[in-house]
Amino acid sequence: LLVTGGERGIGTNFVRYWRNAHPNDEITVLDALTYAGRRENLAGMDGITFVHGNICDQALVEMLLRDRAMDTLVHFAAESHVDRSISGPDAFIETNIVGTHSLLKAAKRAWLDTGSGKPHRFHHVSTDEVYGTLGPDDPAFTETTAYAPNSPYAASKAASDHMVRAYSRTFGLQTTISNCSNNYGPYQFPEKLIPLFITNALHAKPLPIYGDGQNVRDWLHVDDHCRAIDLILGKGQAGTVYNVGGGQEMSNLAIVESICAGIDDAFTRDPNLAGRFKAAPAARGVATSSLKSFVTDRLGHDRRYAIDCSKIERELGYRAQIGDFIEGFSTTLAWYLKNQDWWLNFKQA
Ligand code: NAD
Repeated sequence: LLVTGGERGIGTNFVRYWRNAHPNDEITVLDALTYAGRRENLAGMDGITFVHGNICDQALVEMLLRDRAMDTLVHFAAESHVDRSISGPDAFIETNIVGTHSLLKAAKRAWLDTGSGKPHRFHHVSTDEVYGTLGPDDPAFTETTAYAPNSPYAASKAASDHMVRAYSRTFGLQTTISNCSNNYGPYQFPEKLIPLFITNALHAKPLPIYGDGQNVRDWLHVDDHCRAIDLILGKGQAGTVYNVGGGQEMSNLAIVESICAGIDDAFTRDPNLAGRFKAAPAARGVATSSLKSFVTDRLGHDRRYAIDCSKIERELGYRAQIGDFIEGFSTTLAWYLKNQDWWLNFKQA
């Protein structure tokens, strides 16, 4: 299979997951190495072919699909950070819309126009943000909720979802889409809320909380997300959309409190951490929550997302196995504490 954007974040977790779950499959990763500019996460792994390239390069993608006889494309590559989409939307149009369309054209050429017509799958990874925002008592997003994206990021993902749908309906490309909630876990770039707050706390930097901190998100452990995509690729109907969630609706403030409590607890249990992270308040017995800092709200900040994933549960047997945020967070924190060299590279970049 061809995995786009496999060199960071969810894509890296997915490649690692797939390597274990399907050891005989050949995996090619196509990634432009944005931000980091170097390979970090899959280097040294057996059975992975890495191609440094851009999803906008239609000829390259077409050649990869055809020459390596690949029948599955899992598309993670994106500009993914909402704040960056507010300060510079152009890259989001280019990668998320033009890039996804370029992949669709390549897949159509390789699999339909000049290919064998064999079964194939184009899986597009999208977000619950395409559905807009909810009030406190509104029902959760379902697959039929009308799209109402509010940030340039969400609008670019919505546009890409529509193009994927159109290539399925118009040309018969065998596509699936998953719209998932906020992911957390290893290998997340420290601009996303959870790794940002962990790494800031360890360096005694402020923990910036937008507005009143009462924005609510559903939190999905990345391992559960990978299992959901595996189910969709194996059993999901072509032309279908599935919502994927973790069943963990929490306010940002509650997330920050959990992070702070988790860090304090880790320092109490492991005295070596005080020596490794000397600047951290927890190293001096000071509560990590002392770093909390309320900042001006993000423009257009959606108030609440909640995801109804009963369709994938009913049809494909999906269940979030890490449905408890405290449990999922403690293994995530342990990973960031152990892999300081990994995130320090980015923090200093
Ligand atoms: P990320 O930004 O951490 O990683 C994106 C990867 O794509 C990087 O390796 C980057 O180098 C690569 N990339 C970017 N532009 C590229 C291009 N033009 N060509 C080739 N490679 C390119 O993203 P993430 O948080 O892991 O998200 C992965 C996918 O999941 C995205 O499509 C995102 O919209 C979606 N998603 C993420 C979340 C979340 O909580 N992180 C939630 C819902 C949906």
